[in-house]
Amino acid sequence: MKHNIPLEEALELLLEKTISPGESSVPLIHALGRIVSQDIVAQENSPFFDRSPLDGYALLASDTGSATSSQPVRLTVLEEIPAGYVAVSRVTSGTAIKVMTGAPIPQGADVVVKYEEVERKGGIVSIFKPLKSRSNVVYAGEDVKKGEVVAKQGILVTPALIGLLAGLGIASVTVYHRVKVAILSTGDELINIDETLRPGKIYDSNRHTLQARCLELGVEPVMLGNVADRQDQVAERICEGLKQADVVITTGGVSVGDYDVVQDAVEEAGAEIIFWKVDIKPGSPILAAMKEQKLIIGLSGNPVAALITFDLLVIPLLKKMMGRRKYLYSKIQGALLDGFIKSSEQRRFLRARMLVGNEKILVRLTGIQNNSALKSMMECNLFVDVPAGSGPLNPGDVVSAYVIGSIDNVDE
Ligand code: AMP
Ligand code: MG
Repeated sequence: MKHNIPLEEALELLLEKTISPGESSVPLIHALGRIVSQDIVAQENSPFFDRSPLDGYALLASDTGSATSSQPVRLTVLEEIPAGYVAVSRVTSGTAIKVMTGAPIPQGADVVVKYEEVERKGGIVSIFKPLKSRSNVVYAGEDVKKGEVVAKQGILVTPALIGLLAGLGIASVTVYHRVKVAILSTGDELINIDETLRPGKIYDSNRHTLQARCLELGVEPVMLGNVADRQDQVAERICEGLKQADVVITTGGVSVGDYDVVQDAVEEAGAEIIFWKVDIKPGSPILAAMKEQKLIIGLSGNPVAALITFDLLVIPLLKKMMGRRKYLYSKIQGALLDGFIKSSEQRRFLRARMLVGNEKILVRLTGIQNNSALKSMMECNLFVDVPAGSGPLNPGDVVSAYVIGSIDNVDE
Protein backbone atom coordinates (compact mmCIF):
# COMPACT_ATOMS: atom_id res chain seq x y z
CA MET A 1 0.00 0.00 0.00
CA LYS A 2 1.24 3.48 -0.88
CA HIS A 3 0.83 6.28 1.61
CA ASN A 4 0.41 10.05 1.26
CA ILE A 5 1.10 10.20 -2.47
CA PRO A 6 0.75 13.13 -4.91
CA LEU A 7 -2.61 13.60 -6.64
CA GLU A 8 -1.18 12.74 -10.07
CA GLU A 9 0.24 9.44 -8.81
CA ALA A 10 -3.07 8.55 -7.16
CA LEU A 11 -4.92 9.34 -10.38
CA GLU A 12 -2.50 7.28 -12.45
CA LEU A 13 -2.90 4.32 -10.09
CA LEU A 14 -6.66 4.51 -10.51
CA LEU A 15 -6.65 5.11 -14.26
CA GLU A 16 -4.43 2.12 -14.96
CA LYS A 17 -7.04 -0.12 -13.32
CA THR A 18 -9.93 0.74 -15.64
CA ILE A 19 -11.44 -1.88 -17.88
CA SER A 20 -13.72 -1.42 -20.88
CA PRO A 21 -17.39 -1.39 -19.91
CA GLY A 22 -18.70 -3.32 -22.95
CA GLU A 23 -21.03 -1.94 -25.60
CA SER A 24 -24.43 -2.31 -27.17
CA SER A 25 -26.50 -0.80 -29.95
CA VAL A 26 -29.30 1.53 -28.83
CA PRO A 27 -31.98 3.56 -30.64
CA LEU A 28 -30.59 6.97 -31.60
CA ILE A 29 -32.31 9.07 -28.92
CA HIS A 30 -31.25 6.67 -26.15
CA ALA A 31 -27.64 7.40 -27.05
CA LEU A 32 -27.93 10.97 -25.73
CA GLY A 33 -25.32 11.59 -23.02
CA ARG A 34 -23.61 8.27 -23.74
CA ILE A 35 -20.28 7.54 -25.38
CA VAL A 36 -19.83 6.31 -28.96
CA SER A 37 -17.97 2.99 -28.81
CA GLN A 38 -17.26 2.54 -32.52
CA ASP A 39 -16.45 5.15 -35.16
CA ILE A 40 -19.63 6.11 -37.01
CA VAL A 41 -19.10 6.35 -40.78
CA ALA A 42 -21.53 8.25 -43.02
CA GLN A 43 -23.11 5.90 -45.56
CA GLU A 44 -24.53 8.86 -47.48
CA ASN A 45 -23.59 12.38 -48.44
CA SER A 46 -25.24 15.19 -46.52
CA PRO A 47 -26.96 16.86 -48.23
CA PHE A 48 -27.87 13.84 -50.38
CA PHE A 49 -28.20 15.92 -53.57
CA ASP A 50 -27.30 19.40 -54.87
CA ARG A 51 -30.08 21.64 -53.60
CA SER A 52 -31.31 25.18 -53.55
CA PRO A 53 -30.76 27.13 -50.32
CA LEU A 54 -33.45 29.67 -51.22
CA ASP A 55 -36.60 30.35 -53.21
CA GLY A 56 -35.59 31.41 -56.72
CA TYR A 57 -34.87 30.31 -60.27
CA ALA A 58 -32.35 27.72 -61.37
CA LEU A 59 -30.66 28.57 -64.62
CA LEU A 60 -27.41 28.64 -66.57
CA ALA A 61 -24.94 31.30 -65.44
CA SER A 62 -23.62 31.52 -69.02
CA ASP A 63 -27.02 32.90 -70.12
CA THR A 64 -26.68 35.93 -67.87
CA GLY A 65 -23.38 37.43 -69.04
CA SER A 66 -25.01 40.39 -70.85
CA ALA A 67 -27.73 41.10 -68.24
CA THR A 68 -28.01 44.68 -66.94
CA SER A 69 -30.71 46.55 -65.05
CA SER A 70 -31.88 48.26 -68.23
CA GLN A 71 -31.40 45.27 -70.54
CA PRO A 72 -32.32 42.16 -68.61
CA VAL A 73 -31.96 38.64 -69.94
CA ARG A 74 -35.34 36.97 -70.39
CA LEU A 75 -35.73 33.24 -69.80
CA THR A 76 -38.69 30.89 -70.29
CA VAL A 77 -39.83 29.22 -67.07
CA LEU A 78 -40.27 25.50 -67.71
CA GLU A 79 -41.78 24.33 -64.42
CA GLU A 80 -41.92 24.83 -60.65
CA ILE A 81 -40.27 22.50 -58.11
CA PRO A 82 -41.23 22.53 -54.41
CA ALA A 83 -38.97 20.82 -51.83
CA GLY A 84 -39.50 17.09 -51.98
CA TYR A 85 -39.93 16.87 -55.77
CA VAL A 86 -37.66 16.50 -58.77
CA ALA A 87 -37.81 18.47 -62.05
CA VAL A 88 -38.93 16.52 -65.10
CA SER A 89 -37.32 18.89 -67.59
CA ARG A 90 -33.73 19.95 -68.07
CA VAL A 91 -32.53 23.54 -68.00
CA THR A 92 -31.04 24.51 -71.34
CA SER A 93 -29.90 27.86 -72.67
CA GLY A 94 -32.79 30.35 -72.62
CA THR A 95 -34.76 28.52 -69.92
CA ALA A 96 -35.09 28.45 -66.13
CA ILE A 97 -36.92 26.37 -63.52
CA LYS A 98 -38.54 27.91 -60.45
CA VAL A 99 -37.22 26.19 -57.29
CA MET A 100 -38.17 26.43 -53.60
CA THR A 101 -35.75 26.17 -50.69
CA GLY A 102 -34.61 22.56 -50.35
CA ALA A 103 -35.59 21.52 -53.89
CA PRO A 104 -32.99 19.57 -55.92
CA ILE A 105 -31.11 21.66 -58.49
CA PRO A 106 -32.59 20.67 -61.87
CA GLN A 107 -30.29 19.05 -64.37
CA GLY A 108 -28.40 21.48 -66.56
CA ALA A 109 -28.67 24.43 -64.11
CA ASP A 110 -25.53 25.69 -62.36
CA VAL A 111 -26.81 28.68 -60.41
CA VAL A 112 -29.86 29.85 -58.49
CA VAL A 113 -31.00 33.47 -58.43
CA LYS A 114 -33.18 34.80 -55.60
CA TYR A 115 -36.88 35.63 -56.13
CA GLU A 116 -36.19 39.11 -54.83
CA GLU A 117 -33.66 39.79 -57.61
CA VAL A 118 -35.84 38.92 -60.61
CA GLU A 119 -39.04 40.01 -62.26
CA ARG A 120 -41.63 37.50 -63.36
CA LYS A 121 -44.24 38.14 -66.00
CA GLY A 122 -46.34 35.22 -67.20
CA GLY A 123 -44.00 32.44 -68.29
CA ILE A 124 -40.95 34.72 -68.50
CA VAL A 125 -38.45 35.62 -65.81
CA SER A 126 -36.09 38.61 -66.22
CA ILE A 127 -32.56 38.60 -64.78
CA PHE A 128 -30.86 41.96 -64.24
CA LYS A 129 -27.23 41.11 -63.58
CA PRO A 130 -24.63 38.49 -64.56
CA LEU A 131 -24.50 35.51 -62.19
CA LYS A 132 -21.51 33.46 -61.16
CA SER A 133 -21.66 29.76 -61.88
CA ARG A 134 -22.16 27.59 -58.74
CA SER A 135 -23.47 30.41 -56.57
CA ASN A 136 -26.51 29.78 -54.36
CA VAL A 137 -26.17 26.02 -54.66
CA VAL A 138 -25.66 23.69 -51.68
CA TYR A 139 -23.65 20.82 -53.08
CA ALA A 140 -24.13 17.15 -52.16
CA GLY A 141 -21.71 16.18 -49.39
CA GLU A 142 -21.00 19.80 -48.46
CA ASP A 143 -21.64 19.08 -44.75
CA VAL A 144 -20.73 15.39 -44.58
CA LYS A 145 -19.07 13.27 -47.26
CA LYS A 146 -20.03 9.65 -47.78
CA GLY A 147 -17.38 7.53 -46.03
CA GLU A 148 -16.43 10.29 -43.57
CA VAL A 149 -16.15 9.46 -39.83
CA VAL A 150 -18.84 11.69 -38.33
CA ALA A 151 -18.35 10.58 -34.72
CA LYS A 152 -15.15 9.09 -33.38
CA GLN A 153 -15.14 6.34 -30.81
CA GLY A 154 -15.02 7.93 -27.35
CA ILE A 155 -17.05 11.08 -27.99
CA LEU A 156 -20.11 12.15 -26.07
CA VAL A 157 -23.44 11.97 -27.90
CA THR A 158 -24.92 15.48 -27.91
CA PRO A 159 -28.21 16.77 -29.38
CA ALA A 160 -26.27 18.16 -32.37
CA LEU A 161 -24.72 14.75 -33.10
CA ILE A 162 -28.14 13.12 -32.81
CA GLY A 163 -29.43 15.57 -35.42
CA LEU A 164 -26.46 14.95 -37.70
CA LEU A 165 -26.90 11.18 -37.47
CA ALA A 166 -30.66 11.40 -37.99
CA GLY A 167 -30.00 13.52 -41.09
CA LEU A 168 -27.84 10.69 -42.41
CA GLY A 169 -30.55 8.11 -41.75
CA ILE A 170 -28.68 6.47 -38.87
CA ALA A 171 -31.34 5.05 -36.53
CA SER A 172 -29.21 3.30 -33.92
CA VAL A 173 -25.80 3.87 -32.36
CA THR A 174 -23.34 1.57 -30.64
CA VAL A 175 -22.44 3.04 -27.26
CA TYR A 176 -20.61 1.89 -24.16
CA HIS A 177 -22.64 0.40 -21.33
CA ARG A 178 -23.48 2.78 -18.55
CA VAL A 179 -20.97 2.61 -15.72
CA LYS A 180 -22.59 1.83 -12.36
CA VAL A 181 -21.34 3.57 -9.24
CA ALA A 182 -22.40 2.41 -5.77
CA ILE A 183 -22.55 5.22 -3.21
CA LEU A 184 -22.34 4.50 0.53
CA SER A 185 -22.27 7.04 3.38
CA THR A 186 -20.74 5.95 6.65
CA GLY A 187 -21.18 7.59 10.07
CA ASP A 188 -23.22 7.10 13.24
CA GLU A 189 -24.30 10.74 13.03
CA LEU A 190 -26.08 10.43 9.68
CA ILE A 191 -29.82 10.48 9.18
CA ASN A 192 -31.90 10.56 6.00
CA ILE A 193 -33.26 13.86 4.73
CA ASP A 194 -36.83 12.77 5.40
CA GLU A 195 -36.16 12.06 9.09
CA THR A 196 -36.61 14.56 11.93
CA LEU A 197 -33.34 16.07 13.12
CA ARG A 198 -32.26 14.70 16.52
CA PRO A 199 -29.52 15.98 18.86
CA GLY A 200 -26.06 15.22 17.55
CA LYS A 201 -27.31 13.97 14.19
CA ILE A 202 -26.83 15.53 10.74
CA TYR A 203 -28.44 14.94 7.40
CA ASP A 204 -26.50 12.77 5.00
CA SER A 205 -25.77 15.25 2.23
CA ASN A 206 -22.85 13.44 0.58
CA ARG A 207 -25.05 10.69 -0.75
CA HIS A 208 -27.13 13.22 -2.64
CA THR A 209 -24.22 15.34 -3.86
CA LEU A 210 -22.43 12.33 -5.30
CA GLN A 211 -25.63 10.87 -6.71
CA ALA A 212 -26.27 14.18 -8.49
CA ARG A 213 -22.69 14.32 -9.81
CA CYS A 214 -23.08 10.79 -11.18
CA LEU A 215 -26.36 11.60 -12.89
CA GLU A 216 -24.88 14.76 -14.36
CA LEU A 217 -21.93 12.80 -15.68
CA GLY A 218 -24.09 10.08 -17.23
CA VAL A 219 -23.16 7.22 -14.92
CA GLU A 220 -25.75 5.23 -13.01
CA PRO A 221 -25.70 5.72 -9.24
CA VAL A 222 -26.56 2.66 -7.15
CA MET A 223 -27.70 3.99 -3.79
CA LEU A 224 -26.52 1.95 -0.81
CA GLY A 225 -27.82 4.43 1.80
CA ASN A 226 -25.90 5.05 5.00
CA VAL A 227 -24.36 2.77 7.55
CA ALA A 228 -23.06 3.16 11.12
CA ASP A 229 -19.33 3.29 11.96
CA ARG A 230 -19.23 -0.49 12.38
CA GLN A 231 -16.55 -2.41 10.52
CA ASP A 232 -18.66 -5.51 9.87
CA GLN A 233 -21.65 -3.52 8.62
CA VAL A 234 -19.50 -1.34 6.36
CA ALA A 235 -17.76 -4.45 4.97
CA GLU A 236 -21.10 -6.07 4.27
CA ARG A 237 -22.42 -3.02 2.39
CA ILE A 238 -19.22 -2.71 0.37
CA CYS A 239 -19.63 -6.34 -0.73
CA GLU A 240 -23.21 -5.60 -1.70
CA GLY A 241 -22.01 -2.59 -3.70
CA LEU A 242 -19.36 -4.67 -5.48
CA LYS A 243 -22.08 -7.08 -6.62
CA GLN A 244 -24.27 -4.34 -8.04
CA ALA A 245 -21.83 -1.79 -9.43
CA ASP A 246 -18.51 -1.30 -11.24
CA VAL A 247 -17.06 1.03 -8.59
CA VAL A 248 -17.93 1.59 -4.93
CA ILE A 249 -17.55 5.07 -3.44
CA THR A 250 -17.82 5.53 0.32
CA THR A 251 -17.67 8.74 2.34
CA GLY A 252 -16.62 9.15 5.96
CA GLY A 253 -14.50 7.08 8.32
CA VAL A 254 -11.23 7.04 6.33
CA SER A 255 -9.11 9.13 8.65
CA VAL A 256 -7.24 8.13 11.81
CA GLY A 257 -10.02 8.55 14.39
CA ASP A 258 -11.20 5.78 16.73
CA TYR A 259 -14.37 5.32 14.69
CA ASP A 260 -12.74 5.42 11.26
CA VAL A 261 -13.45 1.85 10.27
CA VAL A 262 -13.50 2.02 6.48
CA GLN A 263 -9.92 0.84 5.93
CA ASP A 264 -10.42 -2.27 8.07
CA ALA A 265 -13.84 -2.83 6.55
CA VAL A 266 -12.40 -2.71 3.03
CA GLU A 267 -9.86 -5.37 4.02
CA GLU A 268 -12.57 -7.44 5.69
CA ALA A 269 -14.48 -7.25 2.41
CA GLY A 270 -11.48 -8.96 0.80
CA ALA A 271 -10.11 -5.99 -1.10
CA GLU A 272 -6.48 -5.03 -1.45
CA ILE A 273 -5.57 -1.46 -0.53
CA ILE A 274 -3.79 0.46 -3.28
CA PHE A 275 -3.13 3.72 -1.49
CA TRP A 276 -4.23 5.71 1.53
CA LYS A 277 -3.98 9.46 1.75
CA VAL A 278 -3.26 11.87 -1.06
CA ASP A 279 -1.13 14.92 -0.43
CA ILE A 280 -3.75 17.63 -1.00
CA LYS A 281 -5.94 19.89 1.04
CA PRO A 282 -8.88 19.52 1.48
CA GLY A 283 -9.64 15.82 1.40
CA SER A 284 -6.30 14.15 2.00
CA PRO A 285 -7.70 11.03 3.70
CA ILE A 286 -8.63 9.07 0.60
CA LEU A 287 -8.45 5.33 0.34
CA ALA A 288 -8.37 3.27 -2.84
CA ALA A 289 -8.67 -0.50 -2.91
CA MET A 290 -9.43 -3.22 -5.41
CA LYS A 291 -11.30 -6.48 -5.35
CA GLU A 292 -11.78 -8.67 -8.42
CA GLN A 293 -10.97 -5.82 -10.82
CA LYS A 294 -13.41 -3.46 -9.13
CA LEU A 295 -12.30 -0.32 -7.38
CA ILE A 296 -13.45 0.87 -3.98
CA ILE A 297 -12.70 4.50 -3.20
CA GLY A 298 -13.20 5.87 0.29
CA LEU A 299 -13.49 9.66 0.48
CA SER A 300 -13.51 11.89 3.53
CA GLY A 301 -16.96 12.48 5.03
CA ASN A 302 -16.49 16.20 5.05
CA PRO A 303 -18.93 17.39 2.36
CA VAL A 304 -16.49 19.81 0.71
CA ALA A 305 -13.59 17.38 0.81
CA ALA A 306 -15.80 14.56 -0.50
CA LEU A 307 -16.96 16.63 -3.45
CA ILE A 308 -13.56 18.10 -4.34
CA THR A 309 -11.83 14.74 -4.24
CA PHE A 310 -14.69 13.12 -6.14
CA ASP A 311 -14.20 15.76 -8.82
CA LEU A 312 -10.40 15.58 -8.89
CA LEU A 313 -9.94 11.82 -8.72
CA VAL A 314 -13.17 9.97 -9.31
CA ILE A 315 -14.59 11.93 -12.24
CA PRO A 316 -11.54 11.39 -14.49
CA LEU A 317 -11.65 7.72 -13.53
CA LEU A 318 -15.36 7.44 -14.33
CA LYS A 319 -14.91 9.31 -17.61
CA LYS A 320 -12.20 6.86 -18.63
CA MET A 321 -14.36 3.93 -17.57
CA MET A 322 -17.24 5.37 -19.61
CA GLY A 323 -14.94 5.27 -22.63
CA ARG A 324 -14.55 9.04 -23.03
CA ARG A 325 -11.61 10.22 -25.11
CA LYS A 326 -10.94 13.19 -22.90
CA TYR A 327 -10.99 12.26 -19.27
CA LEU A 328 -8.37 14.56 -17.77
CA TYR A 329 -9.18 18.12 -16.77
CA SER A 330 -7.96 21.08 -18.76
CA LYS A 331 -5.75 23.49 -16.88
CA ILE A 332 -5.89 27.25 -17.37
CA GLN A 333 -3.93 30.19 -16.04
CA GLY A 334 -5.58 33.37 -14.84
CA ALA A 335 -5.13 36.41 -12.66
CA LEU A 336 -6.63 36.31 -9.18
CA LEU A 337 -9.18 39.01 -8.42
CA ASP A 338 -8.98 38.52 -4.67
CA GLY A 339 -6.32 37.58 -2.18
CA PHE A 340 -6.04 34.49 0.03
CA ILE A 341 -4.36 35.23 3.34
CA LYS A 342 -3.31 31.76 4.45
CA SER A 343 -0.01 30.19 3.54
CA SER A 344 -0.22 26.70 2.06
CA GLU A 345 2.16 24.25 3.61
CA GLN A 346 0.40 21.45 1.72
CA ARG A 347 -0.80 21.60 -1.91
CA ARG A 348 -4.18 23.24 -1.70
CA PHE A 349 -7.20 23.55 -3.99
CA LEU A 350 -9.30 26.70 -3.77
CA ARG A 351 -12.85 26.96 -5.06
CA ALA A 352 -13.08 29.67 -7.70
CA ARG A 353 -14.94 30.87 -10.70
CA MET A 354 -13.57 31.69 -14.12
CA LEU A 355 -14.48 35.09 -15.54
CA VAL A 356 -13.36 36.53 -18.84
CA GLY A 357 -12.48 40.22 -18.90
CA ASN A 358 -10.67 42.10 -21.68
CA GLU A 359 -9.80 38.75 -23.29
CA LYS A 360 -7.94 37.80 -20.10
CA ILE A 361 -8.96 35.00 -17.79
CA LEU A 362 -9.79 36.27 -14.33
CA VAL A 363 -10.20 34.04 -11.29
CA ARG A 364 -12.58 34.96 -8.50
CA LEU A 365 -12.60 32.93 -5.29
CA THR A 366 -16.17 31.83 -4.56
CA GLY A 367 -16.25 32.50 -0.84
CA ILE A 368 -15.13 30.95 2.42
CA GLN A 369 -12.55 28.27 1.66
CA ASN A 370 -12.75 26.20 4.81
CA ASN A 371 -13.67 22.55 4.76
CA SER A 372 -17.27 22.82 5.77
CA ALA A 373 -18.25 25.68 3.44
CA LEU A 374 -20.19 23.78 0.79
CA LYS A 375 -21.88 26.97 -0.42
CA SER A 376 -18.70 28.10 -2.16
CA MET A 377 -18.92 24.98 -4.36
CA MET A 378 -22.12 26.23 -5.94
CA GLU A 379 -20.53 28.81 -8.20
CA CYS A 380 -17.28 26.93 -8.51
CA ASN A 381 -16.05 26.00 -11.96
CA LEU A 382 -12.33 26.16 -11.21
CA PHE A 383 -10.09 24.53 -8.66
CA VAL A 384 -7.10 26.83 -8.18
CA ASP A 385 -4.03 24.66 -7.68
CA VAL A 386 -1.85 26.27 -5.00
CA PRO A 387 1.53 24.51 -4.78
CA ALA A 388 2.83 23.29 -1.42
CA GLY A 389 5.02 25.88 0.26
CA SER A 390 3.15 28.89 -1.16
CA GLY A 391 2.73 32.05 0.88
CA PRO A 392 -0.43 34.16 0.92
CA LEU A 393 -1.88 35.00 -2.51
CA ASN A 394 -2.46 38.58 -3.62
CA PRO A 395 -4.90 40.07 -6.13
CA GLY A 396 -3.28 40.03 -9.56
CA ASP A 397 -1.21 36.92 -8.86
CA VAL A 398 -1.28 34.49 -11.79
CA VAL A 399 -2.54 31.09 -10.68
CA SER A 400 -3.21 27.84 -12.50
CA ALA A 401 -6.48 26.02 -12.10
CA TYR A 402 -8.39 22.94 -13.24
CA VAL A 403 -11.58 23.65 -15.16
CA ILE A 404 -14.37 21.75 -13.43
CA GLY A 405 -17.79 20.95 -14.90
CA SER A 406 -19.65 23.34 -17.11
CA ILE A 407 -18.23 26.86 -17.32
CA ASP A 408 -21.58 28.51 -17.76
CA ASN A 409 -23.54 26.78 -15.04
CA VAL A 410 -24.59 29.62 -12.78
CA ASP A 411 -27.57 31.92 -13.20
CA GLU A 412 -26.34 35.25 -11.90
P1 AMP B 1 -15.29 11.72 8.75
O1 AMP B 1 -14.69 11.68 7.42
O2 AMP B 1 -16.12 10.52 9.07
O3 AMP B 1 -14.28 12.00 9.81
O4 AMP B 1 -16.29 12.96 8.76
C1 AMP B 1 -15.82 14.29 8.62
C2 AMP B 1 -16.96 15.26 8.81
O5 AMP B 1 -17.93 15.12 7.79
C3 AMP B 1 -17.74 15.08 10.10
O6 AMP B 1 -18.09 16.36 10.61
C4 AMP B 1 -18.95 14.31 9.68
O7 AMP B 1 -20.05 14.48 10.55
C5 AMP B 1 -19.21 14.88 8.32
N1 AMP B 1 -19.90 13.91 7.45
C6 AMP B 1 -19.55 12.61 7.32
N2 AMP B 1 -20.35 11.99 6.44
C7 AMP B 1 -21.23 12.93 6.01
C8 AMP B 1 -22.31 12.90 5.08
N3 AMP B 1 -22.64 11.78 4.44
N4 AMP B 1 -23.00 14.04 4.87
C9 AMP B 1 -22.66 15.18 5.50
N5 AMP B 1 -21.65 15.27 6.38
C10 AMP B 1 -20.93 14.16 6.65
MG1 MG C 1 -16.94 9.77 10.81
